[in-house]
Amino acid sequence: MTGLEEARTQILQMVGNVGRETVPLKEAAGRIAADSIASNFDLPLYDNSAMDGYAVRSVDVSRATMVKPAKLKIIGTIAAGDSGDKRVEEEKAIRVFTGSAMPNGANAVVMQEDTIEGGPDEIQILEPVKPYENVRLKGEDVRKGDVVIREGTHVTPAFVGLLGGLGVNEVSVFRRLKVGLLATGNELQDPGRPPSDGKIFESNRAMLASFIERIGGTTTIYPIVRDDMTETKAAFEKAFNDNQVVVSSGGVSVGEFDYVKQAFEAIGGKQNLWKVNIKPGKPFVFGRKADKFLFGLPGNPVSALVTFVLLVRPALLRMQGAINVDLPSHSAMLMEQLTNRGDRRHFMRVCVDAGGKARLSGTQASHMLSSLAAANGLVDVPPGKTLEAGATVQVWRLDL
Ligand code: AMP
Ligand code: MG
Repeated sequence: MTGLEEARTQILQMVGNVGRETVPLKEAAGRIAADSIASNFDLPLYDNSAMDGYAVRSVDVSRATMVKPAKLKIIGTIAAGDSGDKRVEEEKAIRVFTGSAMPNGANAVVMQEDTIEGGPDEIQILEPVKPYENVRLKGEDVRKGDVVIREGTHVTPAFVGLLGGLGVNEVSVFRRLKVGLLATGNELQDPGRPPSDGKIFESNRAMLASFIERIGGTTTIYPIVRDDMTETKAAFEKAFNDNQVVVSSGGVSVGEFDYVKQAFEAIGGKQNLWKVNIKPGKPFVFGRKADKFLFGLPGNPVSALVTFVLLVRPALLRMQGAINVDLPSHSAMLMEQLTNRGDRRHFMRVCVDAGGKARLSGTQASHMLSSLAAANGLVDVPPGKTLEAGATVQVWRLDL
């Protein structure tokens, strides 16, 4: 049996990446940058006002008070979008608005609230401003030439905003990985009609497909595969023809109806890993067929999801070019004792509240879907160990 980190390392070493493509900026969020991008401009592009008010020379208003306002002549207006090609001379002011280009000569903006109108074309300033007060300086956010996003990082909506602010309208990103989903088992039935005798609703394909879509992949769901060698072979053959990765569930244990490994090898696949020393999820197959990969997950939904997040998610992210492929984690305080009497690491489902307190999300058996749905994290409990209430533990986040 392989240890978790060893399995993970072995998988990450074997997988390559899917190559790159250029997409419009607004489609880049959720993708992974395939090139580092350096800014062509300073941001802000030019000095501009942070307030509605008056652009002034700070020396002209340095002694202004409520009782003795500084009186300045208004010599013009610059609206947001106007050119700032005007000049403020001694004891003069220009009316400006948030985002207006700063006129030459002025070095500060007095906000409107600190002024009263004087005579025609006169403004009275009631408070001094320091040099550069209420001015957004050219380049204070980003300098021309700064690298603003690095290859291999996730493009978040905020990065889309930053790139847009720098005038970027298309981005080189890694391609989306094509993943085919199979589920094996004679007991499985598609949802949508009442359950037949002895059948259960198949739920892994949709669950895993949703997860894969969230991390940037595209998915195809194939029909349920009966526990039959010929049918299993044909189903895997088809899924491998259409996709770069196949994720299957069920049929990887030691039962006489578990055909996945055999079928995979019969169509030319080579199994690299089988069985990982964790609970839930011991039976787990990783294999390669030419430049394509199989992740054969156990059928129990909880085992399928846990092995997916620990072993498949990192691999799919790496194939899509991501450098950081770890599940996010943070520390939390245990509100109850967690005991692992078994001899494998047990990844227990917990729910962490907003205050950082962690509790079991329900019963931990690997067929229990409700405690999986209620969980937002996993705690790794070592074999034969008890983690006490009050202990600080690391939680791997599941609510991705
Ligand atoms: P297996 O890994 O095929 O031995 O299946 C282990 C358990 O998971 C059995 O109780 C199966 O009925 C159940 N199971 C297998 N595949 C699925 C699936 N796709 N959806 C829901 N339950 C499943
Ligand atoms: Mg089965």
